[in-house]
Amino acid sequence: MRAIEVLSRLARVADHFRYVAFALLGVLVLVILVQADSVITSGEAVGRSMRYDMALTGLNSRLDATNARERMARYVVTGDSEDRDAAYLFYDILVGRLEMMQSGAFGAFVKASPRRQKVLDEATRAVIAVEPMLDLLPDPAAFEQVNKALGEAGTAIDRLGGEAMSANLSEAAEFRAELSERQRVQNLLLQLLIGFGAGLLLMMTVQAWSLRRARTDAERAARRFEFVARHDPLTRLPNRSAFHSMLQAEIGRLNHRGRGAGEDVAVLALDLDDFKAVNDILGHAAGDDLLVAVASRLSWVVAQWGEGNVASRLGGDEFTVLLRIHGGEAEALERAYEVSRALHEAHSVSGGSVVVNATVGLALAGPNGRRGADLLQNADLALSHAKAAGKGQVQIYDDSMRIDATRRRRIEADFDDGLARSRIVPHFQPQVDMQTGRIVGLEALARWQHPTLGWISPAEFIPIAESSGRIVEIGERILEAACREIQRMPDSCKVSVNLSVAQLARDDLADTVRDILFRTGLPPRRLTLEVTETVVMRDTHRARNMLARLKRLGIGIALDDFGTGYSALSYLRDFDWDELKIDRSFVNSITTDEHSLSIIASIVNLAERLSISVTVEGVETRAQVDMLKGIGCHVAQGFLYGAASPIEELVSRAENFEQAMRQANG
Ligand code: C2E
Ligand code: CA
Ligand code: CA
Repeated sequence: MRAIEVLSRLARVADHFRYVAFALLGVLVLVILVQADSVITSGEAVGRSMRYDMALTGLNSRLDATNARERMARYVVTGDSEDRDAAYLFYDILVGRLEMMQSGAFGAFVKASPRRQKVLDEATRAVIAVEPMLDLLPDPAAFEQVNKALGEAGTAIDRLGGEAMSANLSEAAEFRAELSERQRVQNLLLQLLIGFGAGLLLMMTVQAWSLRRARTDAERAARRFEFVARHDPLTRLPNRSAFHSMLQAEIGRLNHRGRGAGEDVAVLALDLDDFKAVNDILGHAAGDDLLVAVASRLSWVVAQWGEGNVASRLGGDEFTVLLRIHGGEAEALERAYEVSRALHEAHSVSGGSVVVNATVGLALAGPNGRRGADLLQNADLALSHAKAAGKGQVQIYDDSMRIDATRRRRIEADFDDGLARSRIVPHFQPQVDMQTGRIVGLEALARWQHPTLGWISPAEFIPIAESSGRIVEIGERILEAACREIQRMPDSCKVSVNLSVAQLARDDLADTVRDILFRTGLPPRRLTLEVTETVVMRDTHRARNMLARLKRLGIGIALDDFGTGYSALSYLRDFDWDELKIDRSFVNSITTDEHSLSIIASIVNLAERLSISVTVEGVETRAQVDMLKGIGCHVAQGFLYGAASPIEELVSRAENFEQAMRQANG
């Protein structure tokens, strides 16, 4: 997930969190309000509960009335002055009580109803009215009158008290109901609060969790970005800039620490041979597959050597390996060969397998601890040197190679001049019938007479022309010259011309060849084009179609260098070849290795059955000729019959031959 997504998710979570916090705050405020209200209400309740004494007030008044009547009764009986004082006292108490009932809570209760007020007023008046009669006591008639008045007043007051009591009771019940309602609301709010609290806790947990996740996501995104910046997207190996910093760090580490004997930093620069051919012929997808396979093979090998050894891809088919070595140059070389061997094992690509060779250049930092950039440049120089010496090689850098690099740049720069002044020309190597010694064909081999560098071998300048894209022009030039010059030879003598993969990849190749044949007037049957097996490594329509179109012009197609690299007999069947050229590396060993001879024998046998003619290359000795003839070979090419030379020499040689033949016959 991208960092922006992470952030927006965070913001969303924070939003939810805000709403919950607001809701919680609201509930809290509500609870506080309810709580405050409850406190006030309880205060009121206490105030109201004071009115419970009202019932008591009523009851006491009645008791006071009764007491007064009792004392008076006693006084009437005894006539004792003490009883008379008590009767007066209780009467005063009763009056006081009645006055009290006009004020306070009870007074309020009474005032609330005119009827009650009237009852109280009448009772009070009745009691006060009998006061003068008290002096007449213990007269029984007066007593009876007083007794009656007090009794009635007492009853009236008592009834008021009862009323107050029941009013009080119902009010209390109401209040209790109100209280319990409040309690219910409060409980509800409390539950709500607990619920919200739990929700909040949950939210916070979720938030903490999603924050953690967001952070992990962001970290992962950062790591991925860092990875992308420092790695090649196709093979996932470290890229050029990562390689440079690792190399620099490694050199720094060694220089800082001081190095022990044999301890050094080395760089392998490697390049796949004919990778361009794989790309051109099998297509880019297969090319990519091959790069990925090579990268993983490389990483695997390098991983065996432990920490400090790293493979990287600089681009295209260029790989590098950073080596931490302890055994000096010998160990570095051993590793370079190990890499080379490992890469030579077949790689699987979409729909099949491909065998490639890698050419390796090796450079060591050395005791002076070269800068990383120099070290890589040296390894590169060693690599170009290795390529020039022949593919699939391992070369260790030495200072003379700097001169070679200059030479290479020089050659590249001088192609224009070479072509413009026709200094790049074909020489011709004879192909001879071993039985008769007659030249049956010539192979055109490019030669460059450079004004200052002298003769330059095609082994040196053809690979440079191929990598700098000049091979198409050069190839056309050689083809046209060869087609023209071969016509100086007898009509039976054919010419073979080498074709680069880059030429074969061009759609206009067949047209070019047809035009050249037309311009030079060479009959197509006298021309053979040689292609190496890299172009038939795998069946592709393009390459096959082009070869078929060329064949339709009437020319021959030869499979060159058969026996090097990945030769497979199935190639012979894959295309309708006219000629097979067995590589000189096979011929080299036939006198020492009996297997070589039997292999050639079976190839010759198979070719014969497929009606493919065979030419054996690199024949240098009579002994080789004898052995080759013994297994049914007819045509040979090699130093024994002559190296490549200008056409004049071959023309006169052919004339001499014909003359000698005529003399022998005649
Ligand atoms: P090739 O096509 O395999 O040519 C044969 C090479 O083997 C020639 O090297 C030839 O001089 C050498 N040779 C011939 N007989 C013997 C022998 O008995 N012993 C030894 N040791 N070597 C022998 P040369 O001329 O240096 O050419 C090298 C390669 O350059 C050719 O290999 C060919 O692949 C390429 N080349 C040459 N001319 C052209 C050209 O015009 N176009 C293209 N595309 N490639 C060319
Ligand atoms: Ca050839
Ligand atoms: Ca060859």
